[in-house]
Amino acid sequence: MRYALIFLVLLLATETARSQKSDKRPNIIVILADDMGYGDLGCYGHPTISTPELDKMAAEGMRLTQCYAGAAVCTPSRAALLTGRFPVRTGVYGKGDVFRQNSATGLPHKEITIAEMLKEKGYATAIIGKWHLGSVKEYLPVRQGFDYWFGTPYSNDMGRVFTTRIDPDQPFPAGPRAGAPELPLFRNDEIIEYEPDQRYLTKRYTEEVIKFIRDHKNQPFFTYYASNFPHTPLYASPDFEGKSKRGIYGDVVSELDWSVGQIIQELKNQGIEDNTLVIFTSDNGPWLTQKDHGGSAGLLFEGKNSTYEGGMRVPGIAWWPGRIKANVTSTALFSALDIFPTIARITGSKIPGNLELDGMDQSELLLGTRTSIRTEIFYYINETLQAVRQGRWKAHFVTHASYSPEPPRVLDVPLLYDIEADPGEKYDLARHKPEIVKALTELYNQAKNAIPLPEPEIEKKLPGR
Ligand code: MG
Repeated sequence: MRYALIFLVLLLATETARSQKSDKRPNIIVILADDMGYGDLGCYGHPTISTPELDKMAAEGMRLTQCYAGAAVCTPSRAALLTGRFPVRTGVYGKGDVFRQNSATGLPHKEITIAEMLKEKGYATAIIGKWHLGSVKEYLPVRQGFDYWFGTPYSNDMGRVFTTRIDPDQPFPAGPRAGAPELPLFRNDEIIEYEPDQRYLTKRYTEEVIKFIRDHKNQPFFTYYASNFPHTPLYASPDFEGKSKRGIYGDVVSELDWSVGQIIQELKNQGIEDNTLVIFTSDNGPWLTQKDHGGSAGLLFEGKNSTYEGGMRVPGIAWWPGRIKANVTSTALFSALDIFPTIARITGSKIPGNLELDGMDQSELLLGTRTSIRTEIFYYINETLQAVRQGRWKAHFVTHASYSPEPPRVLDVPLLYDIEADPGEKYDLARHKPEIVKALTELYNQAKNAIPLPEPEIEKKLPGR
């Protein structure tokens, strides 16, 4: 009898182990840097910032050279990534560019986030880091599909620490910024600290991601790790501060690189690396007005808050040992909008039939069965479609220097660039290619009028604030 019981227990244990093994729903980790430029990583050509872990991740996976953020600033870009829909479709746009401390709303609840979609499939879901899609209680991540959150509701410069470095020769003003609210740090829907010591944020986020992996290694999980860095103000821990030839900006990127390395190593330690897709990208281009505290778009023109390439083209690395081929550099077009439908396909998740997606399923690109899927990129600032790209051609219809007080310029004749021959957008070919200007103008007009604008959520403020 006793032996029969032991046999039964062993049989059950074997069956459980087998069913866990056959559960091939892959884990998903999306790592999002904040304001990291196209040229800020070693594997994207930075001459002095050392990023051995991201370089290795690229060498073990796919490096995308034409990967775009969904928008040119934080809030709409994050909405695009998490929903697969243009900000002009979700309403996450408006004057002021991003949700502020006094915003009354956030990402509308009718939107489906990646976390909500994956929860339906039985995934454990966590966001570690910056949210920036609404800071009032009913719009926090734990109401938008995330089981767990550790991080800040918005950017790390929206507290009491001075950030904007107007003149590189001047030190930061000392002391707290008068009248500014304190930056909260949340665990789930509770504030656990105000003004956390930002030097240790990257270490703490790394520990949180690793703990979430350990706690959920036996079930499928989705971790969205949205670092606050290298957005200003820049802080690195003593292990990294003062080490990079690129100064504090390089220190911060190096620590983020270390953080990614720790996470990849943990997946390997747990033996789940061949069942985990990791995507690394950035929410928008470098914040150039921060001078030496802002990043670099490399050979691309302009930065954050611009629809020139430097504002929206960012690093993009996809890693999944055994599924994504190692050491592939792809020049295919990819958008952060594509992450939602790609994850849907890879995890076998259902997308409601009436959901109008702007992203495309890129699973076949990542898994190597197709070399190119997307053919167009649309470049918005708030509700304004400023430029379109089709294949190698990009036309600008409205231009604006990032953060310039001058109003945007609506062009009579668009600027036309052969973006593959001229990624720096230096040589306007409109005069020489009237037929291409005509085709892109048609595409532009069609796209501009295709989406009925919902109310701009970013303009809704809390009363009296
Ligand atoms: Mg940003």
